[in-house]
Amino acid sequence: MEIKLAKNYGFCFGVKRAIKIAETTKNSNTLGPLIHNKKEIERLKKEHNIGLVEEIDEVKEGDTVVIRTHGIAKDKLKKLQEKDVNIIDATCPFVTKPQQIVEQMSKEGYSIVIFGDINHPEIKGVMSYAKDPIVVLSADELKDKKLKEKVATVAQTTRKFDEYKKIVNYLMENHKEVRVFNTICNATFENQDAAKELSKEADVMIVIGGKNSSNTKQLYNICKENCKDSYLVEDENELKKEWFEGKKLCGITAGASTPDWIIEKVIGKIREFKV
Ligand code: SF4
Repeated sequence: MEIKLAKNYGFCFGVKRAIKIAETTKNSNTLGPLIHNKKEIERLKKEHNIGLVEEIDEVKEGDTVVIRTHGIAKDKLKKLQEKDVNIIDATCPFVTKPQQIVEQMSKEGYSIVIFGDINHPEIKGVMSYAKDPIVVLSADELKDKKLKEKVATVAQTTRKFDEYKKIVNYLMENHKEVRVFNTICNATFENQDAAKELSKEADVMIVIGGKNSSNTKQLYNICKENCKDSYLVEDENELKKEWFEGKKLCGITAGASTPDWIIEKVIGKIREFKV
């Protein structure tokens, strides 16, 4: 069986940057997991003494705190700034951007529509910079919402462009002035397009990434649409030999928070199956 990697996969710019910042900082804590990958978090702890705290109250005076790629809410940042702690900001610049946009647009009197998952840390952060934001996952959800004539909209970085267009179309049809900001991240597109292409030719697809990672789950859904034998695994231990029996081409892709060392272990284990 041939094993082929997608043209684009794995760590994106923001994650590489955050890990580098954390590794350079050493002996610190991240507020919430730095990235959505348990194994990489464990490695950072073991090799660089980078711990994890979930709440600001757990941060002690004099500590160094790293803010993760998804960013944090404005009030939490303020609370942190009021403590005597050293703050290292590893928020991805592509996440900081929608925070700045909604803050500015709110000041200018626009209603803010955010396309994304209200429970996702990135969106919680973006919402905190807006005045009375409306968060939706589809255009249908906008139908009963009261918005001003002037509307500005941003999207969660990992959302699908086609879905965002539906929301934008709805807003254009119903409002006099619409400011559209395409805040969807290219890294996500590139990994998704490459996964789509490869899953069309592969007869088994392995998607590697954290099961709590939104972009990994989207990669898995894209693969599953084109290749029914698609599997999402966090590491090599979840692989099953029977998935590969009788297959000719195994495609591999990985979420934006999956490190290369995990991808290599998965490929190594697939080769060991000798199918
Ligand atoms: S996927 Fe994009 S927005 Fe998210 S951390 Fe990576 S580069 Fe930043």
